[in-house]
Amino acid sequence: DYPAGLTVTEFADDLGGGKQCLGFVAVADLKANPKLRFNAVHLPQQKTPSRIHAEFASANRGTACVTINAGYWWAGNSLSLLVTGGAGFIGSHLCERLLGEGNDVICIDNYFTGHKSNIRHLLSHPNFEIIRHDIVYPYMAEVEEIYNLACPASPIYYQHDPVKTTQTSVIGAMNMLGMARYNRAKVLQASTSEVYGDPLVHPQTEDYWGHVNPLGLRSCYDEGKRCAESLFMSYYREHGIPVKIIRIFNTYGPKMDINDGRVVSNFIVQALRGDNITIYGDGGQSRSFQYIDDLIEGMVRMMDDTPDDFTGPVNIGNPNEFTIAELAREVISLTGSKSKKIGR
Ligand code: NAD
Ligand code: UDP
Repeated sequence: DYPAGLTVTEFADDLGGGKQCLGFVAVADLKANPKLRFNAVHLPQQKTPSRIHAEFASANRGTACVTINAGYWWAGNSLSLLVTGGAGFIGSHLCERLLGEGNDVICIDNYFTGHKSNIRHLLSHPNFEIIRHDIVYPYMAEVEEIYNLACPASPIYYQHDPVKTTQTSVIGAMNMLGMARYNRAKVLQASTSEVYGDPLVHPQTEDYWGHVNPLGLRSCYDEGKRCAESLFMSYYREHGIPVKIIRIFNTYGPKMDINDGRVVSNFIVQALRGDNITIYGDGGQSRSFQYIDDLIEGMVRMMDDTPDDFTGPVNIGNPNEFTIAELAREVISLTGSKSKKIGR
């Protein structure tokens, strides 16, 4: 929306610090503009720098462009927030989004599956704090909202120490709910589609109670998350804490762990390395995948745009399913890989 070559200061003056003017990205077309004179664009609340870059790049195919998250301007209304599991895949995107809105963010993580590299770029942000801590043990801070994401999400990691996985889900949830009660804070639980177990109803709606095996290998995760949901509802009923439960469906995007064994990261890594694409079974099984930015949008809206007595649960995912064989074809075509598809 702004003329090319606008300086950062001119742009900041024009923004004027309104609540909707949360920051900006500068987009440069390196070929047409080798001196890096930026085209500035607004960063509306619902768009992240990576999404704006993707839109700019697709509208200007063939040009070499970069997006630089060049600064933040905000006025008032900032909140003190806590994100557990903030160094993980989803948590690190959430920290970015919440900081971009001008909030103070404390990130707690024990780095079991998360990585410092996911949040290294945030360490110099004046409103960001990172604390190495395991949520199985109590922690207290004065905060207004808590996003509880800490828990390994991939089967290979959550089955590594199943007792610890259940402790993280259950005792971790109690510790976060205790902190919410002390602060009269809102608290959001990152639950999962796995609470439906091996569902007999497709697609799963929130009023379906699921079909879960309490004895199976996945039960440490599935039953832990179900118990956490139960605790959230008990704190809401017994102590009047505003709680929010979201059930996250398969999510993909930058910063997924390349070793976590899930299908999107497996196929992309295999294709880029030229290895065989491992399709389990005949590839006819279907899934839906949502992009990380859409999940983050849903999480923030659930926390901030719903009334205090709206607890959920709310399923957050993509209603459009496609088969694993189609996913393999798409990955091969987008990467231009010579990988072959093999069944297992
Ligand atoms: P992730 O493994 O990348 O992130 C989890 C984070 O929690 C990691 O940084 C890890 O180090 C941290 N953690 C684990 N145990 C901890 C503990 N005891 N104390 C402190 N930190 C701890 O996983 P993710 O994909 O970002 O998932 C985040 C949340 O979303 C999880 O609760 C998961 O169950 C839920 N979820 C994710 C998906 C998905 O598709 N990625 C789907 C459904 C639900
Ligand atoms: N899958 C596959 N090849 C892989 C990894 C997974 O064919 O390398 C299949 C897997 O059998 C399942 C689907 O992809 O049917 C999704 O698996 P994932 O573990 O990613 O997610 P979830 O089963 O938890 O939805």
